[in-house]
Amino acid sequence: MADVTRFAPSPTGFLHLGTAYSALFAAAAAGPKGRFLLRIEGIDAGRSRPEFEEAIYEDLAWLGLVWEQPVRRQAAHFAEYAAVVARLKDDGLLYPCFCTRADIQREIAGAASAPHLTTIGPDGPIYPGTCRHLSSAEQHRRIDAGEAYALRLRMADAVATTGPLVWHDAARGEVKATPEIFGDVVLARKDVPTSYHLACTWDDALQGVTLVTRGEDLVPVTHIHRLLQALWNVPTPRYHHHRLLTAPDGAKFSKRDQSLTLRSLREAGNSRDDVIALLGEMTR
Ligand code: GLU
Repeated sequence: MADVTRFAPSPTGFLHLGTAYSALFAAAAAGPKGRFLLRIEGIDAGRSRPEFEEAIYEDLAWLGLVWEQPVRRQAAHFAEYAAVVARLKDDGLLYPCFCTRADIQREIAGAASAPHLTTIGPDGPIYPGTCRHLSSAEQHRRIDAGEAYALRLRMADAVATTGPLVWHDAARGEVKATPEIFGDVVLARKDVPTSYHLACTWDDALQGVTLVTRGEDLVPVTHIHRLLQALWNVPTPRYHHHRLLTAPDGAKFSKRDQSLTLRSLREAGNSRDDVIALLGEMTR
């Protein structure tokens, strides 16, 4: 079957061997008959930079990849995400959360005497639900007073709405969706009217992606994405979470570590074939 696949980097650093592998993996999964898309996930204004986006285009072309035009740039679609968020809010599935990180930490520390009240999720302790039960009068008072707020998903209600869900992974087979392990996730941040989960899942559906390929560090978030698909009543793609490449010393590649970026490898005289051979060795 000819698939629609995508590579969806955030323009917050230069591509390194790990991200190059991910891009090549996605393009290969589409194959000659499928369609390979590139999406720039630059919702984080503080960390995204135009020069990193330019470098992504340049480095992928250097790798020999060809992607469909136009490229979807998430930073240009905030109004669309805001409309998606507004619909979930109208359905009563979101609530405003005024907590700062410090508030949340304080709340969790306060619950330490009753540790059973603090549940640990894939991203650390899950949100203790401080703002979940604010009255609508209180919500309006604080919004009108100009307090910044994020919008969180009423996870228990969302899961009750959709009922049990599964998703399919090429390496793991059928996986039971357990989005509740994340608690009330943020779907719209204080600074932007979306979050990674919302924008990524929305775009995969909008762009008709049939096979999502990405690193296995993102396996847990797929539970949330599957839930959003069910809430929106959009098709769920198949998933193929691939292994993560590690640096020669076994450490995870990081955007902060610029030593094995494609540009540094290229500047050191490596050809595209050298890089592909190196990736082949690393994944043997
Ligand atoms: N933009 C995400 C990242 O760079 C990848 C999202 C995805 O592939 O789903 O980590």
